Order: sequence, then C-alpha cells, then structure tokens
Amino acid sequence: MADPAQARILICDELHPAALDVFRRRGLEPAIRVGMNEDELVEAVAGVDALVVRSATKITRRVIKAADALRVVGRAGIGVDNVDCEAATERGVVVMNTPTGNATTTAEHAIALLCSLARHVPRANARVRGGEWKKKGLMGTELTGKTLGVIGLGRIGRIVAERAQGLRMNVVAYDPFLADAGKSAPLAGVALTNLEDLLATADFITLHVPLSESTRGLLSWEELARVKPGARLINASRGGVVDEEAVLDALVEGRLAGAAFDVLESEPPAPDHPFLARDDVILTPHLGASSSEAQERVAADIATQIADFLLDGVAENAVNAPALGAEAIAEIAPFLLLAEKMGSLLAQRLDGPIRKLELTVGGDIVQHDIEHLRLALLVGCLRRTLQLGVNFVNAPQIARERGIRVLESREDDPYYRQGQIKVRASAPAGGESHLITGAVFGREPRIVRIDDVHLDLPPRGPLLITSHADAPGVVGQIGTILGQHGVNIRRIELGPPAEEGGGLAAGFLTLYEEPGPEVIEAIAALEPIHAVELIHL
Ligand code: NAD
Repeated sequence: MADPAQARILICDELHPAALDVFRRRGLEPAIRVGMNEDELVEAVAGVDALVVRSATKITRRVIKAADALRVVGRAGIGVDNVDCEAATERGVVVMNTPTGNATTTAEHAIALLCSLARHVPRANARVRGGEWKKKGLMGTELTGKTLGVIGLGRIGRIVAERAQGLRMNVVAYDPFLADAGKSAPLAGVALTNLEDLLATADFITLHVPLSESTRGLLSWEELARVKPGARLINASRGGVVDEEAVLDALVEGRLAGAAFDVLESEPPAPDHPFLARDDVILTPHLGASSSEAQERVAADIATQIADFLLDGVAENAVNAPALGAEAIAEIAPFLLLAEKMGSLLAQRLDGPIRKLELTVGGDIVQHDIEHLRLALLVGCLRRTLQLGVNFVNAPQIARERGIRVLESREDDPYYRQGQIKVRASAPAGGESHLITGAVFGREPRIVRIDDVHLDLPPRGPLLITSHADAPGVVGQIGTILGQHGVNIRRIELGPPAEEGGGLAAGFLTLYEEPGPEVIEAIAALEPIHAVELIHL
C-alpha cells in the first residue's frame, strides 16, 4: 500500500469510543459496521487492511480468505476464540489481543467476591430489602491475619495477591510452572507452595489459571476433601477449572463455608443449577472484566497497537506472528505455524515443565532471521499452560521466568532443502526428552519425525499417539472403537517396534473429530495397548 495513512480499518463490534480517538489522532479513519453476519462480512472485508473485533464477530477462515488485503486482526480483550488464528497465520495475517488491559479489573472483582464472602454482603442486602433488619446468621469473618491461597500466580493472580497483602492477609500461592523453575515467587512476602499444603492451610482459596487440559477439574473431589474445614472458595478465572458437583458436596458437608463464582462451566447456568438455591454461594455473571476503565483501556490499547502496526510496522501483542514486515511474514508463515505446532506437541508430550529446547534450523529458511522461529516455538510450548497470555513479544521473558533455556544452531546439509526444523525438548535434569523434526512442502507444514519414527503428519487437529504390542489386528481394534464413537481417522502412521521399550510399536493417528474421554479409556483398556495419549494440534 502506497500511503499507510490510507489504510482501511473496519471496526466490527461495539467498542469504547477511546479507540476512535486513538485512530484519529494517528491520522486514520476507520469504518464502523456492527452486527454483520458471515456473508455480510465476507463482502465487507474486500480491500480492508485491518479488522477490529471484541467477541461477537467471528473472523472465520472464509472471512480471512475473502479479505484480500488483510494484514491485521485486532481483538479488544484477551480471548481470540472468535478468530481463526491458524487461517490467519497461513495467510501471514497478524492477530493481536490486549492481554493486560483487564487484569486489574478482574483482580479487583476477585477481591470484591472475597470481601462479600467474608461478610455475607449479598445475603445481607437481600435480607434488608426483604424487610428484615436482623443480624442473625450473618456473623462475618475478619480477613486480617487469614491466609489466602492463590492458585495461578500470573498477571491477575499477582494483583490479587498484592491487594490481599494490603488487607493484611498472609498469601501463599501454587503455580507449578514457577515453582518447578526453582524460582521464588515473583512477589515479596508470597510463599510458593504445593497444592496440597495450600488447600490445607488457606482460609480463602482463589483461582487465576487458564482453562486447559491440565487445569480442567483442578479442584475436584479429592482436592476439596483436603481443604481446611470452613475454607471459602472464589473462582473468577474460567468455569471448568473447578468441579461444581464436588463444590456442592463440600458445601453440603460444611467443609467449605462458602463459595463465589464469576464463571461457571455452563454460562448462563440452567435454572435448576443447585448453586442458585444456596445462600452460601455468591454468583456474578462473568463480570470480571466489566469495568468502564477496562473497556476503555482495551479499546485504546487495540487501536494503538493496530496504528503502530499499520504506520510503523511494529506488532505488539501479536498472538500469532512477530514484528515482521508483511512480506516477510507471508514468506515464513508456514514455518512459523510449524514451529508453533511443534512447540505445542512437545509441551504436551512432556506433560511437565520443559527445561531445555534445542532448536536446529536448516535449508533455505535460514536466509531469514530464525529468531522468529524460536519465538513461535516458545509460544507453542508456553500456550499449553498460559494460553493467550503468551505472545511473540512476552514469550522470551516468560520462558526465562520459567527457567526454559533455548539453544539454537544451524544445520548445513538438511534433508529437506526448503527448510527443516528440528527440536529436542527436555524435562529438568535426567527427565524425559523428545525430538521432533518438521519441514514445509510447498507451503504445507508437516511433522516428519517424532522421536525414532519417520512420518508425514500434517500438524492439525487431534492426534492420538499409541504405544502398543507389535501384533496383527491392533490398529483394527483401535479403528473399531473410534468408528463406534463416530470418530473418523484422517491418517494413520505406524512406527516399527523400538529396540528399547520392550519391542513396543508406536501409532500416530490424526483424527477429524475430537474423541471424548470415554473413547480414550476404551482404547487404553485394549489388551495390546501399553499407553495412549491425545494431543491437540
Ligand atoms: P496468566 O496467563 O497471566 O496467568 C495464569 C497463571 O496460571 C500462570 O502463571 C500459569 O503458570 C498458571 N498455571 C497454569 N496451569 C496451572 C496449574 N495447573 N496450576 C496452577 N497454576 C497454573 O493469565 P491471567 O491473565 O492472570 O488470567 C487468569 C485467568 O483469568 C484466565 O483463565 C483468564 O481467562 C481469566 N480471566 C477471567 C476474566 C473474567 O471475566 N472473570 C477476565 C479476564 C481473565
């Protein structure tokens, strides 16, 4: 585009006017069209350089394909579930979010819930409005000197911890990704501990973790059986990290004296949700980020970031691509996608903290700055635990904080001439390590090796990895179970029995549909199956 100031920007969702002010100050005049459906959007995006959304508008693969001039999609807020990031990366379109804009507001909401729980504020309010001016049954508890257990000491968890210290609470925290890095807590006066000790000592427990495979049901029956009797629980993170049935049981039995939820597994809750009938549960409708300051901040942030990108070529908080010129991004996009998927695969295979990543790059791609591949790899690894809080800008700092070292080298004579990426990821000293090699054929990324097995796997969708006895009919048995549950296999590759590991063979099945836990259990129960794991790519 000849003149960056002529860039066409389309705002697709209701956005705080602060965004318009920022754009205009930078000499940009966006168009605003709110509430378009996919067909309307497909028509509207032709020739548009930048799209701005909150959560309502879905930027699908079809929309991205139709957007012939698109260079950036900006989401005012953190979650980019409404943007097909993979399609964007493939086309070299940068997707950016505003990860920090609502952290304070959400942390303050958690503190509001904490105080409300301690002093029964919602119940007392309802009683007075119901015509009763009585204290009976509303005896509160002081916060001073009590212990707050913070689960997840990221951006929001840290603000909550700090504020709670201001209330003179003792704060302990559980965040294995900091603790296993051998780091002290990033806040003075906050002790990092394990989950068991936190549960046994905390008077109030507050959750600030992302929802992921490893945090789903983080607090369930077993954990809630260990809480200090009379503890109170707050969840302003994501529904699903707490097992609601187990909380109900703990409340009924009096192990928990109260609970406050801003988020639920299913939002809004069904009219017969048992929490709705309980006095000892406080519920707010996912209000965490709802303050005028947060909405203004994320709107201004996204406008600033988009203006910086269009006018100065700087991509801050890019979820899927680093600060590169649009042309360079288009060239290396398939490699970035590949490196990110490889990072994600390795983090899932290791299923614990990664201590070292050895990255070896060879082929034509080394003409480009391979720094970006390193960033993409780190983003893929870290998203397993941090999801969208991690981006190409903050990934190196987060990796350092978590004690992850990246060693880089170049390979002079790689097998795949266009470009080959090899990565070994290792757990802390003496632990597991895995090696993956990836290559790009044309513009198609492929995983070509996992440990000792040579493959040709498109890194997309669910991947089932089995370790099984090398006997006839095993694959048939797996296929039958998948078929019975309506799960279609995209591709199967088999590895020969490894010499080490008792002659077990490996299977790699990419699937079209996501298999439920019952499918994995049924496969794991097959006689010849030694182990099975489901990876999401
Ligand atoms: P963040 O990525 O900065 O921090 C998350 C922390 O959780 C990280 O330090 C990570 O190491 C830790 N963690 C990951 N897995 C863990 C585990 N198994 N056990 C303990 N700790 C673990 O994220 P953030 O910005 O602080 O956001 C935290 C949560 O708050 C997210 O789920 C986000 O979606 C949610 N959120 C809710 C609202 C709301 O409206 N209620 C608003 C904003 C964010």
